[in-house]
Amino acid sequence: MNSHDKPSGLVGELEGVEGLEVETGVTLSGFSTFRIGGPAEFLVRLQDRSALEALLSAAGRLGLPFEILGLGSNVLFPDEGLPGVVARLTGNLASFQFQGARVVAGGGMALAKLARLAAERGLEGLEALSGFPSTVGGAVRMNAGSYGVEIQDVLVETCVVDRDGRSRCLTVQELEPSYRRTILQGSGSVVVSATFQLREGSAEKALGRIEELNRRRWASLPSGRPNVGSIFKNPEGEYAGRLIEACGLKGSCCGDAQISPRHANVIVNNGKAKAWQVLELMLTVRQAVDDRFGAQLVPEVELLGSLRNRWQEALDQASEGSR
Ligand SMILES: Cc1cc2nc3c(=O)[nH]c(=O)nc-3n(C[C@H](O)[C@H](O)[C@H](O)COP(=O)(O)OP(=O)(O)OC[C@H]3O[C@@H](n4cnc5c(N)ncnc54)[C@H](O)[C@@H]3O)c2cc1C
Repeated sequence: MNSHDKPSGLVGELEGVEGLEVETGVTLSGFSTFRIGGPAEFLVRLQDRSALEALLSAAGRLGLPFEILGLGSNVLFPDEGLPGVVARLTGNLASFQFQGARVVAGGGMALAKLARLAAERGLEGLEALSGFPSTVGGAVRMNAGSYGVEIQDVLVETCVVDRDGRSRCLTVQELEPSYRRTILQGSGSVVVSATFQLREGSAEKALGRIEELNRRRWASLPSGRPNVGSIFKNPEGEYAGRLIEACGLKGSCCGDAQISPRHANVIVNNGKAKAWQVLELMLTVRQAVDDRFGAQLVPEVELLGSLRNRWQEALDQASEGSR
């Protein structure tokens, strides 16, 4: 490029915008706890809300797909990677501020770190949500939960930026939270902050509970192998893991993707698993559980890019075949 030429495309559109960093072709496997996935066309690290707004409007003008990424503990990236923008929240968008028993945290803040900081101050409420890798934004979006506590139990409100760059705050009721679900899913809104109401209590008790729950969790989960936790949501009144185990699928493999021999609702990457192999296993599981129990398992993991369509196409084919 001639030194007088202006950069074009996304980089050109964002020239002069402060608080962001753009990289191209970064392999996404390093950004998912599954350790699977090809390159992102653009990986953008954002420091503040105005940078996010500028990025959303640039991506909109250019018609680029946009995905926001937290700690990547509930996503499956396609092997060929993702076109368009993958953005991560850092800086001001991953900060926190305590106000008495309330805390306002950025969408990019690690929930486990927030829980520990709160516990050290003697503030209780987040302990049960501290044992899995998550950002505040990723957890609020899907109403993450653990050991009988859901994030809706401590959430007061969340502020989001919509795909058109509009900012708004929603109360917890307005999110219409239910099991692993809020209205933010499928909306394209980015959670930039969340306010939690905690309880004044004892630091010793809160820190002790974090340690105890973490011990229990690591005793039940497949250790050492990359995974994204539960692969399917539990059907109402049932455990997906029990149904999968009853179909005799525990330990089944497709390449290096395996249904964990320890926990049937977890798929592990035994080394070089590909996204298509994980998808194959998921389809096998779904079909087997449907055939045997008439239950249609729904993925808890977010299938990104082409994987969404491939999943839907496979379901459509299966339902045509059964007619
Ligand atoms: C070992 C292990 C154990 C787990 N245990 C549990 C558990 O007990 N309970 C549970 O609920 N989950 C569990 N999970 C799943 C996962 O940790 C949660 O779903 C978590 O909340 C995902 O957060 P994240 O920041 O990693 O999101 P990501 O995986 O990065 O993203 C998930 C989805 O959220 C969206 N997203 C991310 N950040 C934002 C944001 N700021 N605004 C809007 N959307 C956003 C992404 O676009 C994507 O669609 C577990 C995962 C692992 C690996």
